[in-house]
Amino acid sequence: MHLSNRELYYKHLAVPAYVKNAQEFVRAEGIYLFPPDGEPFVDLVSGVSVSNIGHCHPKVVEAVKKQAETYMHLMVYGEFVQSPQVLLAAKLSEQLPSNLESVYLVNSGSEANEGALKLAKRATGRSELIAFNNAYHGSTHGALSVLGNENMKSAYRPLLPEVKFLDFNDESQLNQITTKTAGVIVESIQAEAGIILPQAGYLKALKQRCQEVGALLILDDVQMGFGRTGKLFSFEHYDFVPDILTLAKGMGGGMPIGAFVASKSLMDTLQYNPPLGHITTFGGHPVSAAAALASLDLILSEQLPQTANDKAQIFVNALQDLPQVKEIRQQGLMMAVELGDAEIADKAVSSLWNHRLIVDRFLFCDTAFRIAPPLTITVEEAKKVADIVVKAINVI
Ligand code: PMP
Repeated sequence: MHLSNRELYYKHLAVPAYVKNAQEFVRAEGIYLFPPDGEPFVDLVSGVSVSNIGHCHPKVVEAVKKQAETYMHLMVYGEFVQSPQVLLAAKLSEQLPSNLESVYLVNSGSEANEGALKLAKRATGRSELIAFNNAYHGSTHGALSVLGNENMKSAYRPLLPEVKFLDFNDESQLNQITTKTAGVIVESIQAEAGIILPQAGYLKALKQRCQEVGALLILDDVQMGFGRTGKLFSFEHYDFVPDILTLAKGMGGGMPIGAFVASKSLMDTLQYNPPLGHITTFGGHPVSAAAALASLDLILSEQLPQTANDKAQIFVNALQDLPQVKEIRQQGLMMAVELGDAEIADKAVSSLWNHRLIVDRFLFCDTAFRIAPPLTITVEEAKKVADIVVKAINVI
């Protein structure tokens, strides 16, 4: 018996949440996703900040093809000199402050955060970790341990011990970071909390407190990195430099790759007494690394971060005066449209879908929806799409 792809999806594909009427897509290009038949959908999520350069960008496709024909996997990460990995690491550190010069390539955001948390413990010889309520850092046991939502964690306890949670933006709690603290992990903009921006001076004060007590500050830029916020890396807005930076999602131009980045002296602690402090077979896969290098070249040469804010303003201007819209929280092309009510947000997302626009909800904020298109969206496309968003919201 021949089953359709949708039937196979429901029968054999394990997924983390039930999706009613799951839609199949057969092709993607730029900001468009194509179903088997009918009009394309516009992607206003970018796979949650993955497709910053749009889908199937020809330069990335070319880099992938070229590398796949040259070599794919040769050896577990780190043992051989492989040009896509070293050129990517060099190019990335060129774009970063001088203390972020050593790039450990991994496979995902969760793994980048695992590596960063281990590095903080290893380098300080301390065990306490500090994280924030409503933060999302990934789904593996270590990343889950620093995730700031009890509902998502409780079935998996015991998790890592000695993890304390603070409220984001509350400077009065920073004294809970002490000489016992190995590392503090934070997002500069809390994404899954519904785009919660840091208050002026907060992240600088956080870094200063870490420095005072010798704790390492880990910035999770997995969702906000690679131009999404209007700068190549989000911390560039906030006048501080993290000790460890974690990256993934938009890094690979659509291919899976992540990294944690630190100073060479810090990173070298993973190599001694005992060595092999973090091991990864596929980390920095050559094809993904080649894609990441092509993608980074593009983000820089097309000045995509510099254009993000103006394009976002097209959406903000179109939406902010609608009676349904209570607030828009925005930095670059990352927007939370706050409707103030979960049921209304549900209706908005369905109406947008019916207008063939793909938007997304947040894990820890059910009253808003996310607009975060590829950074390559043109001004004309943004205007056209913003008008359709208005139409879709007006009929709920
Ligand atoms: N950190 C942040 C801020 C994220 O948004 C995500 C993914 N949503 C992760 C970490 C985990 O990344 P991955 O799914 O690649 O493991």
